[in-house]
Amino acid sequence: MSDCLFCKIRDGEMKASIVREDEDTIAFEDINAQAPTHVLVIPKKHIASIDEIEPVDAEVVGKLFLAAKEIARQRGHDEKGYRVVMNMGPDAGQAVYHIHLHLLGGRSLSWPPG
Ligand code: 5GP
Ligand code: ZN
Repeated sequence: MSDCLFCKIRDGEMKASIVREDEDTIAFEDINAQAPTHVLVIPKKHIASIDEIEPVDAEVVGKLFLAAKEIARQRGHDEKGYRVVMNMGPDAGQAVYHIHLHLLGGRSLSWPPG
């Protein structure tokens, strides 16, 4: 996807503060952080939304959670807790159509979300 912002970050064509990378995933700081930790974890494979995840993607989607867990632990959020969330579509406020897990930590987070 040549016009996808997160594919551009993956390819190094767009700057981002990358915090973790492995064979299948990249994690970087959200440009508009909503918590002391606000990291986005994306698959290197372009998948536009949750609605486009296929069974073949199950392993890489699982790896998004493993990456988020590792970053949360590294930042000491495993004791008090943190949130991972993925928005799908306009009602959820999805703005970038390349799936990404938001990892939010370092403060108390209200529930339910707005
Ligand atoms: P969504 O609303 O799609 O779930 O989340 C998109 C997220 O991407 C937002 O939290 C927004 O701040 C972040 N974002 C948008 N553009 C950029 C960018 O160019 N760089 C980074 N690092 N984050 C971005
Ligand atoms: Zn993409």
